[in-house]
Formats: sequence, C-alpha cells, structure tokens
Amino acid sequence: MSCFDADLIIIGAGPAGLAAAQYGAMANLKVLVLEQLSCGGQALVIDVLENYPGNAGQFDADGKMISSPRSGYEVAMDMYRQAQGFGAVFSTFYAKSMKKEDDVFIINFSDDKPLKAKAVIIATGSKPRLLDIPGEKEFSGKGVSYCAVCDGNFFKGKKIIVAGGGDAACEEAMYLSRLSDNITIVHRRDSFRAQKTLVQRIMNNPNIKVRFNTVIKEIKGGKKVNSVVLSGTKDGGISEEQADAVFICSGTVPQTGLAFSLNVELDENGYIVTDRNLATNIAGFFAAGDVRSGAFRQVVTAAADGAVAAHSAAEYIDSLTS
Ligand code: NAP
Repeated sequence: MSCFDADLIIIGAGPAGLAAAQYGAMANLKVLVLEQLSCGGQALVIDVLENYPGNAGQFDADGKMISSPRSGYEVAMDMYRQAQGFGAVFSTFYAKSMKKEDDVFIINFSDDKPLKAKAVIIATGSKPRLLDIPGEKEFSGKGVSYCAVCDGNFFKGKKIIVAGGGDAACEEAMYLSRLSDNITIVHRRDSFRAQKTLVQRIMNNPNIKVRFNTVIKEIKGGKKVNSVVLSGTKDGGISEEQADAVFICSGTVPQTGLAFSLNVELDENGYIVTDRNLATNIAGFFAAGDVRSGAFRQVVTAAADGAVAAHSAAEYIDSLTS
C-alpha cells in the first residue's frame, strides 16, 4: 500500500491553488488541496473582476452592457467547482510545518496526523501590509479596514479615507465611491502606480478627492475612528481631518511561513524564488501566484501560474518512477 495521502498537495486555494488543483487532477494526479479559510483567496474581495480575460460581462446586439463582469467570488467559485469536477479533493486544514525526507513531503498539523505527498505546490498568496502607525491596530475593526467589499457597507454616506496609490487603493476607492460621496485617497507620492484606466476613473470621479504627497501619521478616535493626522511628505505640514473610516491598501507581504521549515530560497522581499517552471530550490516543491518572486499579481497570472506549477509537478512525479 502506498504511504502517500496524495500525489500532489496544494497549499492555498486562491486562484493559483485552484487552477493548480484543476490541472493536477486533469493530469490524473491524486490532488489534495489544503486551505485554512475559504476558497478564493484575495479574489474573494474583488467586486468586479473586469480585467480577467473573457469576463467582460454580456452585451446586447447594440453593444449595450446587459450584465456586468462577474465578481472575484463568482469566478473563484466556478474555478473551485471545476477543480472538484476533475477530481481534486479540498480540505480545511491549517498546515503548521513541513519537511522532506528522501522523496516524501510530510506536512504537519497541530491536531491531525501528518499528510504525505510526492510533490507540493505552495500557493499561499500574500496578506495586507500594515502601515504600522499609532491607532492602526487599536481601531482595526472599529473603522480601520483592509477590505472595502467586506466592510464598506458599514460606512454608507460617511467620510472615508483610503491610504495607498496602487491598484488596490484605486479599486477600493472606486467601490467606496458608490457608498459615499466623501472619499479621500491619501498617497505618499505625487502620482499613482495603479493601472492608467483606473487612475483616469479616479480623477474623473466627483466623489473622490486625492491628496498626493501626504501620509497618515496617526489614526485617532474613542470607541471608533474619529480622525486622522496627516503629514505632507514635501512640506512636513501636519493637519488633522475628521474621518469615520480608514481603508488601508499599502500593498501586501507574502505568506511564506511554511516554506521556512524547508529552507526554500526567498528573494530580498521575502517572496519565493522559482525558475520558469515554477520549481523552487527544493526538488518537488513548486510555488505559484502572489507568494512567488516576480509575479505580476493578477488573478489571470495566478491562474496561469497554477497551471504551469501543476504541469511541472506532474513531470517531477513521473521522473520519480521512471
Ligand atoms: P502596491 O501596488 O504595492 O501598492 C501599494 C501602495 O501603498 C503604493 O502606492 C505604496 O506607495 C503605498 N504604500 C506602501 N507602504 C506605505 C506606507 N508605509 N505608507 C504609505 N503608503 C504606502 O499594492 P496593491 O495595490 O495592494 O497591489 C498589489 C499587487 O496586486 C499589485 O501587483 C497590483 O497590480 C495587484 N492588484 C491588481 C488588481 C487588479 O488588476 N484589478 C487589483 C488589486 C491589486 P508607493 O507607490 O510610493 O510605493
């Protein structure tokens, strides 16, 4: 009897893990996907997934849009069902550590027995980067949030600050501008790094004001957020503005905790280094999506990574027996 619980274990079920599960199962591998929360990863908080190819919405004969692009949640759920349909098995587990003995990967949990696999794909993505300013942790859940789709509704018609200048900040601000006409984006530089079409929409949106060259120094309040202290990055000027909510979109940090126990090579920012086949320095251990170095960090590229990593894992597993 085989000592293996699966040929391929995939850790994380965001778009990269889901696509890897589908492609692994299609390659006839016994695939087990471990996810600590719910499937979908960061795609779950994308309100309108308009840049995913083929997800443009539907148009009538006159070119008028009759249904908008599907949300990240809807696309992720389809990916999940598709992977399951091909035979991938999903399980809710919080993997604690991992080791490799000979050609066997052993994944440990707090309470359950270890799982063994021939190959592993890590697709654990990334999590929000904190601004690390006074008041941020204290008011988290009391006006400070990292997800407009999750928490925006609590602040309908209120004064909302969005911090950051990337795609996430601009998308969150666009989403929030449908709930309130009083949104201010605070960004530390004098231009956005977000995609040009998105920046154009921000600049044309009457509900959104932009304060460039400004950072949030402190978030203040009582039981909940009342104000933010702002500082000019050029003139050093300090001001305080009333605010009911602060949505922080200052980027992400990779979730590589599990890789540490394997001594996987990381880049200078902590992302996992892979080759073009998404193989790491540990044979049989592959990385896909936002957790790997150099990723473009889009749903479409995460899904493509998943397919490549699963294909490479299948070739690696074949090589073990040939
Ligand atoms: P990001 O592109 O890294 O942008 C983070 C923003 O936060 C930057 O503008 C950065 O300022 C600012 N920032 C970072 N630390 C800060 C600090 N301590 N104080 C003040 N500002 C700070 O992160 P993201 O917007 O979360 O996006 C992450 C990745 O996901 C990107 O590759 C992005 O393209 C992708 N993404 C794509 C979509 C989409 O295509 N629909 C949506 C969301 C995210 P600087 O500009 O000065 O560095």
